[in-house]
Amino acid sequence: KDGLKKTKEGFVNKVSNIFTGRTNIDDELFEELEEVLIQADVGVKTTFALIEKLKEDIKEEDIKEPEELMKYFQAELKAMLQNEEGTFNFDKDLNIIMVVGVNGAGKTTTIAKVAGRYKDQGKKVMLAAGDTFRAGAIEQLQIWGDRLGVNVIAQKEGSDAAAVAYDAVQSAKARDVDLLIVDTAGRLHTQKNLMEELKKVKRVIDREAESANAQVEVLLVLDATTGQNAISQAKLFNEAVDVDGIALTKLDGTAKGGIVIAVKNELQIPIKLIGVGEAAEDLQNFDPEEFIEALFS
Ligand code: GDP
Repeated sequence: KDGLKKTKEGFVNKVSNIFTGRTNIDDELFEELEEVLIQADVGVKTTFALIEKLKEDIKEEDIKEPEELMKYFQAELKAMLQNEEGTFNFDKDLNIIMVVGVNGAGKTTTIAKVAGRYKDQGKKVMLAAGDTFRAGAIEQLQIWGDRLGVNVIAQKEGSDAAAVAYDAVQSAKARDVDLLIVDTAGRLHTQKNLMEELKKVKRVIDREAESANAQVEVLLVLDATTGQNAISQAKLFNEAVDVDGIALTKLDGTAKGGIVIAVKNELQIPIKLIGVGEAAEDLQNFDPEEFIEALFS
């Protein structure tokens, strides 16, 4: 099963055709490329930046053949996607991942997949049911906790999310937990309240983490099929809570994989994980080199 099949058949095929279907590098090539990139959710700004880079490459490397230029195109994509950091650091006694994102983006499944992965690696994992707003969210996390065999810290629906986070960090410290993953609400209709709530949760986690040898990371879950909306959402979340990394889910559900490039280039936030299906193994660490190779193979 290839989670990138749609993107290969859509975006990548179109790009390849542009480079292979002609003998000269001309204005038309760039016009077609621009159109395909924008259609594929690469975003206007990033598209222009990529085309500028290609034009520079042509001058500097004296490129004559369109097919040769395609190699430079792939190299520029890789360069744009490069992150220095790895996926998650486990340098500290307690590592806390606060997971944010709108409802339906894939927060719960991402949390379960990450929890399962580190549990399997022998880490002591705990979950915190910080979405106290959406009906059923707490239970859903508890079901995952039972299934995975990890503790879930929860209070009643409607309780204060920051209080749940506080309890969870205390409990994680007391029980020598290696990884605490904190779920949060993702209601969209009351965006302002949501952002205030997330800021408060983050403040509490940061404060409690400081007194332990703990590190905190904010992971934003974005649904790749929502295209440029995902970028606008990311900006809002990033303003509120300083996002450290992105999990880009449902890449299997879109033919416009260009969103990966837009996220990295327009937000300057590293993509840490990509979701290419619903199974646990479909949540992968994001490796730019591998990703571009897989797309153009
Ligand atoms: P939440 O509201 O953000 O907690 O979203 P959920 O975790 O409940 O996910 C919403 C839906 O998206 C569920 O049906 C998941 O199985 C599905 N989902 C999550 N990640 C992926 C992915 O990478 N690929 C596909 N195809 N579905 C996914």
